[in-house]
Amino acid sequence: MIVAARHHVIGAIPGDGIGRETVAAARRVLDVVAEGAGFGLELREFPWGCDHYLATGAMMDEEGIALLSECDAILLGAVGRPDVADHISLWGLLIPIRRNFDQYVSLRPARLLPGVESPLSPAKAGIDVVIVRENTEGEYSEIGGRMFRGQPGELAVQEAVFTRVGIERIARYAFELARGRSGRVASATKSNGIVHTMPFWDEVVAEVGSEYPDVELTRYHVDALAALLVLDPARFDVVLGSNLFGDILSDLTAALAGSIGIAPCGNLDPSRRHPSMFEPIHGSAPDIVGRGIANPLGQIWSAAMMLEHLGEVHAAAGIERAIEAVLAAGIRTPDLGGGHGTDEVTDAVIESFISAETRE
Ligand code: NAD
Ligand code: MN
Repeated sequence: MIVAARHHVIGAIPGDGIGRETVAAARRVLDVVAEGAGFGLELREFPWGCDHYLATGAMMDEEGIALLSECDAILLGAVGRPDVADHISLWGLLIPIRRNFDQYVSLRPARLLPGVESPLSPAKAGIDVVIVRENTEGEYSEIGGRMFRGQPGELAVQEAVFTRVGIERIARYAFELARGRSGRVASATKSNGIVHTMPFWDEVVAEVGSEYPDVELTRYHVDALAALLVLDPARFDVVLGSNLFGDILSDLTAALAGSIGIAPCGNLDPSRRHPSMFEPIHGSAPDIVGRGIANPLGQIWSAAMMLEHLGEVHAAAGIERAIEAVLAAGIRTPDLGGGHGTDEVTDAVIESFISAETRE
């Protein structure tokens, strides 16, 4: 028996809707890649999500976090069903995973790939950015409440939570990343309107930035930043944002890069004490589920990010090259204007990966 020198245990959560279709596709790619690159890959699939919720009243098993903590990384599809409120699916599965595993970085690259059309005019479409989003605190907090339900004076209050530790560590991640890229960080703020948390954010980001004199830090109000990303995307490289701002800006940059069906996301614990989680940024797309036309590339690219995180850098780069080759060859799902299905695109990625490896 040959025992692979490197062995990775992956917790796979297909979730709902097209998540099941895209995780199945990524799984096929991963099996071929592991075989070719000579590492062992064990996928443990967990059937959690909205169906599980409707059957059991919980989005995941009670021991779910413990089961996942035995994995080296997590590959998630998408969660969400029209008949289950979105805050239940988010707060019952994704947020507990992000917070229990201290996945404080949400890393979202957006790059216009060959053969993909941006909604921007070709002259402006040179987009290659990474959104670094704070992923554990900020505006997505449980602190607050509602009063006087159903009465004329009904009200809701929700507090944003920003900590020095939280801002410092996400800022440091962004500056380190920028060092290996263009040396530029754009930080999203709104310190004109939000007068306590955002000036604090700006101060701490600038403090961390002073430790990186080789990296240029520019502060933008988030509304102006959104407009500039559309008007002049080439100006930007690493974009740093709080939980809410980073969420919104990364959907924007994904759309500018052609389709939310391609964009990947890593929820990272850079300390590596806990597993990190990789998922496409798209949701469960109930409007196209079961038709075999979901774009698998966001999931496959997320799987490549996962392999890179696990140290399988060569295999990860091979998958990314295969994605580019397939798009350049015009093999695309309908969201990109093509006429191919999920399986055909996945087959093409696998073929391209194998033929590139054979040529090496
Ligand atoms: P969505 O991303 O599911 O779909 C938006 C549009 O993009 C739809 O028209 C859909 O068909 C299309 N689309 C998305 N992914 C695609 C792909 N891979 N290939 C082809 N087309 C694709 O967003 P939504 O409609 O706002 O949300 C649907 C459900 O997904 C909701 O329940 C929402 O809460 C959930 N959601 C989950 C996540 C997650 O799991 N991380 C993220 C976003 C939304
Ligand atoms: Mn989002």
